[in-house]
Amino acid sequence: MIHENPWIQHDTSYPPARGPVLLLTCMDIRLLDEVVRFMDHDGQTNRYDHLILAGAALGALGGKAGEYCHWQETFDEHLQIAYDLRQFKDVYIIEHRDCGAYAKILGPEGTFGDSDADQKKEKACHLRYAERLHEKIGVWAKENAKHLIRIKSFLMDLRGQVTLLHHTPPEGHPPKTRRAR
Ligand SMILES: [Zn+2]
Repeated sequence: MIHENPWIQHDTSYPPARGPVLLLTCMDIRLLDEVVRFMDHDGQTNRYDHLILAGAALGALGGKAGEYCHWQETFDEHLQIAYDLRQFKDVYIIEHRDCGAYAKILGPEGTFGDSDADQKKEKACHLRYAERLHEKIGVWAKENAKHLIRIKSFLMDLRGQVTLLHHTPPEGHPPKTRRAR
């Protein structure tokens, strides 16, 4: 059994998913337990398929300019298979701070320290790629799915604390975006 960390207070400003979820995260070894704890916290114990790609959203987009385009194909195919198997209505994307894949793929543009300024830049960088992936999944959902898919992106820090980055609600409502402050 995985125990809750009493020091962690996750973002609860959004409604948690009601049904099966497709989860995308990075592969970072430091945060595997924290990801499971967060999903438990969101009421998702044993209710999500977990897809892991280095860099999460950045990986699923195939890198900055398609240098890892085969990762993008992998993501696209798993998105479809997960949908065929479980008809999920929600996608969760968990980005994280100090991501080695962002540093490797983006270089200095994806490498951040611990200063306030760097943390703001880091959050904005993850938001940028998360938004692109939301858009892409939204197009897929429109073309392939019979119902609407809700997409939420999060940013996890190295303690495992999670904040909402971006939320794409059902069609007909303007997207609610939390910009990096
Ligand atoms: Zn990472």
